[in-house]
Amino acid sequence: MKQPGSAVIGLEIHVQLATASKLFCACSTDYIGAVPNTNVCPVCLGQPGSLPVINARVVEYAVRTALALGARVGHFTRFHRKNYFYPDLPKAYQISQYDLPLAEGGSLPIGEGKERRAIPITRLHLEEDAGKLVHSAADGRLGHSEYSLVDYNRGGVPLMEIVSEPEIATPAEAREYVARLRQLVRYLGVSDGDMEKGSLRVDANVSLRREDGSLGTKVEVKNMNSLRALERALEYEIGRQAEVIATGEQVRQETRHWDDGNGVTCGMRGKEEAHDYRYFPDPDLPPLILPSGFVEEQLRLMPEMPWVLKERFCTDWGLSLEDASVLTEWPGLARYMEGCVRCGANPLRAANWIRTETLRVLNERKIPIEKFPVSPEDFTALLAKVEKGDLSTTLAKKVFDLMVSEGMPLPAAIGRLGANSGKLEGPALIAIIERIMERETGTIEEIRSGKDPKGKKRGFLCGQVMREARGQADPGEVAKMIGEILDNQ
Ligand code: ADP
Ligand code: MG
Ligand code: ZN
Repeated sequence: MKQPGSAVIGLEIHVQLATASKLFCACSTDYIGAVPNTNVCPVCLGQPGSLPVINARVVEYAVRTALALGARVGHFTRFHRKNYFYPDLPKAYQISQYDLPLAEGGSLPIGEGKERRAIPITRLHLEEDAGKLVHSAADGRLGHSEYSLVDYNRGGVPLMEIVSEPEIATPAEAREYVARLRQLVRYLGVSDGDMEKGSLRVDANVSLRREDGSLGTKVEVKNMNSLRALERALEYEIGRQAEVIATGEQVRQETRHWDDGNGVTCGMRGKEEAHDYRYFPDPDLPPLILPSGFVEEQLRLMPEMPWVLKERFCTDWGLSLEDASVLTEWPGLARYMEGCVRCGANPLRAANWIRTETLRVLNERKIPIEKFPVSPEDFTALLAKVEKGDLSTTLAKKVFDLMVSEGMPLPAAIGRLGANSGKLEGPALIAIIERIMERETGTIEEIRSGKDPKGKKRGFLCGQVMREARGQADPGEVAKMIGEILDNQ
């Protein structure tokens, strides 16, 4: 891969940590729906005399992530001031980490099977977010605006920056790396990882190798807010650099902005060097020394890693890699699948139904699996009915839709479908009978052991079924079906 002209990519990813309060003050981190400049205080507005205090939860989340990446956690780290002026930064410095980041090293696995490889991580550190400028132009662009407003609600929101080594080779690999990192932070419960909302922001550094195979001048590309945008931006930028080099010119080290609408990157500014920021240790914050047992506690809270879970779905249940990948993409979805199998579902059938039916509903309704109205128990029971031949696939899908749209439990949905067709019969009626039989096991025992000479108890069972069917079944048929079950078992 060290061929001249081949691409080299390194990613710097900012992950917004899902804490309720900010990094150094008690203000709410809610900045998306909130009224501008309401979640602010003297600390995050940088007023003189105010003092920052670190949020322990932020450190927990970052340490948990570092451990998942196999990084070395620094037990003694510190915060620096990164000085620059911008209207969204009232202190005129950002509190970040410099020479002693929270963690260093480690790696993130990407790819499958033989293609699987680990992308090495350089460092993971904590820093605060800046506020947000709202430009007046309709298209939101600074250059087109008459004035800009500033909202400090986001100022001081905790960010974890994860920097990779320049060892990613293609835009597709970069995309995969970000997807795996996003999945990881969701599994760890430390961030929602939502790129569109800005909870996960990617700065992509890219260069082409020189004639001697050494690293070329890198360009940093910003402003991609989806995986697809990231891949497209890198493809474009690699092409652009190749053209620059082909015409005998030098690639300029700079930061470029991805314009998704036009599919191009444009120059934003020359790249700053670290010394431009005049970093120095923040005198308001003592060094961060992790108490004994802190790291061990985070290790205890570590869930199964998504790549381990995916492998388990394949080996334990024989799922295809693709099924396993889709089902482990979200931790909640993986838990749902595991719930179904625990309830006795056939894994292949469950995987198939979840992928086609459940995911369709989640997409249509734009809800997470946590808000999906059908419990794994009911879902499994429905699949069992299909498997046993009690319900045709077509009818089962109708039942499923009712369970989703009305939030009905399975028997009620089956009952409703029967009722709607006028007369209750077939699978819908069988379902009711099965339910009554399950409930009245005592009565059934008595009938079978001959304690029902006058047939009163049989009559009672029929009555229960008729009541459940709201009188819409044929009593003769009900009696016959119950008789068959009683006599056959
Ligand atoms: P800076 O100080 O300019 O931010 P760093 O050396 O800290 O630069 O690297 C920032 C990111 O750029 C890292 O993810 C790193 O992997 C990547 N990177 C560094 N050099 C190159 C290069 N020549 N080509 C592509 N990416 C690079
Ligand atoms: Mg950088
Ligand atoms: Zn505050």
